[in-house]
Amino acid sequence: EDGNAAQPTTSGRLPAQFRGLLVPCGAASNAGNAGLRPALAPLRRSYQTVSPGFRADIQAAAAKKQTGVSLKHLLDFGTQPLERQMFLSARFLHAEIPIRLAHRLTDLNNLPRQLSEEPHVRRVKGWYAASFDDFRSFPHIKDGMDVINFTQMLKNAFRRHNNVVPAIAKGVEIYKTALERSGESTEERESEIQHFLDTFFLSRIAIRFLAGHHIQIAADAVAEARAMCFREYGTAPAVTMRGNTSLTMAYVPSHLHHMVFELVKNSLRAVQDRYADSDSEPPAIQVVVAEGLEDVTIKVSDQGGGIPRSGLQRIWTYLYTTARSPLPEVDIDSSMMPAVLAGYGCGLPLSRLYARYFGGDLQIISMEGYGTDAYLHLARLGNDEEPLPGSVP
Ligand code: ADP
Ligand code: MG
Repeated sequence: EDGNAAQPTTSGRLPAQFRGLLVPCGAASNAGNAGLRPALAPLRRSYQTVSPGFRADIQAAAAKKQTGVSLKHLLDFGTQPLERQMFLSARFLHAEIPIRLAHRLTDLNNLPRQLSEEPHVRRVKGWYAASFDDFRSFPHIKDGMDVINFTQMLKNAFRRHNNVVPAIAKGVEIYKTALERSGESTEERESEIQHFLDTFFLSRIAIRFLAGHHIQIAADAVAEARAMCFREYGTAPAVTMRGNTSLTMAYVPSHLHHMVFELVKNSLRAVQDRYADSDSEPPAIQVVVAEGLEDVTIKVSDQGGGIPRSGLQRIWTYLYTTARSPLPEVDIDSSMMPAVLAGYGCGLPLSRLYARYFGGDLQIISMEGYGTDAYLHLARLGNDEEPLPGSVP
């Protein structure tokens, strides 16, 4: 039995071109790897100073419909030779991503003015505008060399957007505080914001899904979460893997990574806090992988004391956290995600959005005074079409 985080292993059973989508469960690949990236060059253009032509281009792109992609489609696509796949995918992304970026930019601009003009939110708009500009000024993709350059551009754009979640979270926090101070009722705004965040983050998942599929960078979610815990606490509880851990399934590496990473981080924090002053060894967190006909279920179990029943509803609310607040200041000039184990309160709601994205779900069962079980259900055969904002239930 492996007492620590499992290393990713690649199954030899399936053709190489599937590999990007086949992830050993519990040890997934990642594209949005936190805290380890070199800082990007400062943003070249500011959204506030762009030309009218640029605005018109954004409006035109935002008027176009987004094209959904199903996981099945991506898998079928995977049967073609790799070079051909890369070429077709680059062409598709070159056309599709700017449309999606423009839609998000328009949504951000349509927020209540105070929120839309909040500096963190403005910075996010700057990232969307800069990426939109990168895509629109990239020439028509003709050959393999163009594909290589395009992939590099895509990687840079991907990295530029690493801080979107904490920046938006911080912006919303500041906005809410300002509303409360001015004595305005936040209740009706609350559900508006929740809806906006769902739509916005869902679309972000969508864009990163498409881009990440193209980029495919490997990492290990459990090991990464433990490394983060080490940085903050100087120690980290063990994580054991049980069940069919060498199982491979069709899934999106970066999504699986995100969900496992968030769940394991929550468990690590709970166990670590509960055993901070204890002489006994903190009990290991267990990751169990079960394979059914319809679903693959990943359970993350901890003995971190659980969640009180009164708090259980709120864990699905964006920004709900029991970690110290306010949020750490986001360095909006850097592409580095502030590496914190907890505190953004986006871990659970975003992970559930990821799970539901391809027809799965996430459930949290708590035994207060003992521990928490997180059940991540992932649908096996991805026939579900990518849900785009507008079709959010
Ligand atoms: P964050 O981790 O940034 O606080 P999350 O959305 O991941 O945000 O979790 C929200 C809250 O739910 C946490 O702050 C914590 O109070 C509670 N929680 C989540 N997972 C666990 C767990 N395994 N054990 C105890 N509490 C948990
Ligand atoms: Mg969390």
